[in-house]
Amino acid sequence: MIENQVKKTLRKTGVNKKEKILVAVSGGKDSAVTAYLLSKFGYNIRGFHIDLKIGDYSEKCKNAVVELCRQLGISLIIYDIKKEMGSGMCYLRSAVQSRKKTEIKNCAICGVIKKWIFNKEARKLKADKIATGHNLDDESQTFLMNLFKGSPELSANIGVITENTSNKKFIPRIKPLFYIAEEDIRKYSRQKKLPVVYEKCPCALDSYRIQVREFTEKLSEKEKVNVVRNFERLREKFRKKESEINYCRICGEPSRNQVCRKCGLMQ
Ligand code: AMP
Ligand code: ZN
Repeated sequence: MIENQVKKTLRKTGVNKKEKILVAVSGGKDSAVTAYLLSKFGYNIRGFHIDLKIGDYSEKCKNAVVELCRQLGISLIIYDIKKEMGSGMCYLRSAVQSRKKTEIKNCAICGVIKKWIFNKEARKLKADKIATGHNLDDESQTFLMNLFKGSPELSANIGVITENTSNKKFIPRIKPLFYIAEEDIRKYSRQKKLPVVYEKCPCALDSYRIQVREFTEKLSEKEKVNVVRNFERLREKFRKKESEINYCRICGEPSRNQVCRKCGLMQ
């Protein structure tokens, strides 16, 4: 049962009900179910939505999160990417792709920029944690993609909670749906009639992830759980020492290198 599993996962993250949690709500089913369950279990949550300005799609997503937060009775912060960063995600992304002249996938660029925004804004809002809707399928795919590319260490931070206790500017991220299969989330979201956009982002054209997804779709839920659980057991081996605290010399955000991934893409 999804509710019990999510409760267990939340216990594993160590998050408590007094902490301020900012739920990153995209308009999709995963983050809607995350917000719904955290609210149902009595956590102290607010919604945070990035309006990516991807035409009609973003409008539908924004309307869905406004309605979701209204139904849950929680406040919602909307970050307008055009106002804050000068352009919509489509433009930011193509600018990076043409400048870098390498084939960086759409979702990878969007993902780096979103994470950078989450951390910066969550800190401004004095949130203790950020919650995202990442599910079992996302996590097992990401881990296998890194493994197939020969870089399992890129998954070193995978887990129900990503934190860096020695870096005060890093807001820990939790993934309450870490062990829940996408199909179960879809069913639950439909059953609860959550206001959700079920269509995929028109820019989600990451062919490698699609290929890996075709592979993971053939796995049973138990096998997908095994992928992430076994990786959790190996993870410590890939972890760098936490003492390596760095801040990006351009934006000041936490970074493993002199320049963070977002500034590395955008400069
Ligand atoms: P994705 O990177 O699109 O697979 O989304 C992973 C998670 O990031 C979602 O489950 C949400 O929690 C969060 N997220 C994605 N897009 C947005 C957005 N536009 N605004 C707020 N949160 C988002
Ligand atoms: Zn930076």
